[in-house]
Amino acid sequence: MTASDFKKVFKQLNSKPVVKQKFVKHNKPKARKIGIASKKCERCGRFGAHISSYGLNLCRQCFRETAEEIGFKKYS
Ligand SMILES: [Zn+2]
Repeated sequence: MTASDFKKVFKQLNSKPVVKQKFVKHNKPKARKIGIASKKCERCGRFGAHISSYGLNLCRQCFRETAEEIGFKKYS
């Protein structure tokens, strides 16, 4: 199981509905209101270095890659 999204396991479990039900009951991560796990990059799913200003919701790595496409300009 990957840490990025626990729902990725559903791909295998869709053929076994009872096992899937039990898996969700015991392995569903808690819905967080505060803390680092409450914010997640929309593009790659990282938790660290989150940029939420201007409603971006990206990590710094994804921001660097997509900044010019979004419309940011580098002045230095
Ligand atoms: Zn990212």
